Amino acid sequence: MRHCCKFKPDDTYYLSENDLYSSRRLSVGFCPICGKPVAELVEYRFDGIINRISVSGVQANNLMLECKDEIIYSMKECNYLRFKSKPYGWKYGINKVVKINGKEKIKQYACDFYGNKELIKSV
Ligand SMILES: [Zn+2]
Repeated sequence: MRHCCKFKPDDTYYLSENDLYSSRRLSVGFCPICGKPVAELVEYRFDGIINRISVSGVQANNLMLECKDEIIYSMKECNYLRFKSKPYGWKYGINKVVKINGKEKIKQYACDFYGNKELIKSV
């Protein structure tokens, strides 16, 4: 993250996707020089364009509040629950075809490299 200088975020939150954006991440931290809270939202639009919002002070706080309900999990949380939680870090998707009442359904999972798996969508 960047404010008066470049610094590492205190925590990074993974946000749920919405209609336009996926891979949404909100990083929060405090600038080591001026001490202001800084929040940075990075999200990828469906057409590949990256939307990046970086704000500080009261605006950073407002951005955090706006995103609060969309938080799925945070980096810190993941580090604690490493091997028994939701997939985190670099993820890959797998699709499984299952038959329910004679109809084929596709279940989409997000997987990580630690054996965690999460059902994302079933079509
Ligand atoms: Zn600063």
